[in-house]
Amino acid sequence: MTQLAEKTLKAIDEKIVDDHTEKFRRHLGASIIGRPCIRSLWYSFRWAKPAEFSARILRLFQRGHLEEDRFIDYLTRIGCKVWSHDADGNQFRFSFCGGHAGGSLDSVATGVPDVPKDRPCLCEYKTHNDKSFKMLQKKGVKNCKFEHYVQMQLYMSGFNLPYALYMAVNKNDDDLYLEIVTRNDTVANVYKKRAENIVYAETPPARLNESPGWWQCSWCDYKQICHTDAIATVNCRTCANSTPVADGDWSCERHYTATVDHANYKKSNEIHCTGCGDHIYLPGMIGGATLVDMADNRSWIKYKLRNGNEIVNGRDHIKSIDLLGD
Ligand code: SF4
Ligand code: SF4
Repeated sequence: MTQLAEKTLKAIDEKIVDDHTEKFRRHLGASIIGRPCIRSLWYSFRWAKPAEFSARILRLFQRGHLEEDRFIDYLTRIGCKVWSHDADGNQFRFSFCGGHAGGSLDSVATGVPDVPKDRPCLCEYKTHNDKSFKMLQKKGVKNCKFEHYVQMQLYMSGFNLPYALYMAVNKNDDDLYLEIVTRNDTVANVYKKRAENIVYAETPPARLNESPGWWQCSWCDYKQICHTDAIATVNCRTCANSTPVADGDWSCERHYTATVDHANYKKSNEIHCTGCGDHIYLPGMIGGATLVDMADNRSWIKYKLRNGNEIVNGRDHIKSIDLLGD
């Protein structure tokens, strides 16, 4: 009789989930700016809900990173010169939108046979499941994985690179797909502007679709808050007092002018993730509610809920944490 190693598998899964401590991304990633729904990107950037990944999904992410070395090895073996880190061992990072958007490119290479001699080329490495890979072979990256196309355009524009080599592997059978993408600054500029519209928006951008049954909404992490009356997590980014400022920092409108030292607030990642007792919900973070009024000193905010009731959210009224607990 087959004896499954269930306890071992459970222990591995639990350890993988425990070790993944990054619940929120600090910036809006170039790899997702081209996704279809701008509203879901805003919820993500504003930390409406912590990311919860199963062990299997985390292993999939890890698999993608592990494949990068293989891609670099293939390129090196055919004579390309490949750089994936700078002299200090850091990845090549690119940021824009006051440091609130950006990403790290996989590598830059010269000597890529399909690119004019000596011209540098961005290299982007991706893994695909069988269905996605076959679609990629049929339609190309722009038509099949538009967010990857946008990501490459942002990097090419940011690093002044004329070409990109998109390298994809089919996880099912190790088949490879390689495509050269040329730089298009118009696309890059459209998506830089889109990033600005997300980062500096104080209310949720338009929905991709008004119907919760729409196919892309059905698997969206934010469908409850977007289409029903769910409430966002309490942290500084879901607070109406927080504003993105320069250098990827955030300013607290309440404490800047009140009691907490602004410089210390900016350094305190912990408070940023958990919020404080003065948290008041940013419009859009209480699903279906509409803003009625807000105190001049931002100590409270009044909302009309989806059911018609009015509530006052603030330290001396209904605290956010209690609202969330209801
Ligand atoms: S539920 Fe639909 S409209 Fe709402 S954020 Fe998600 S994808 Fe966008
Ligand atoms: S009031 Fe509190 S929760 Fe809101 S931004 Fe300031 S420190 Fe964060």
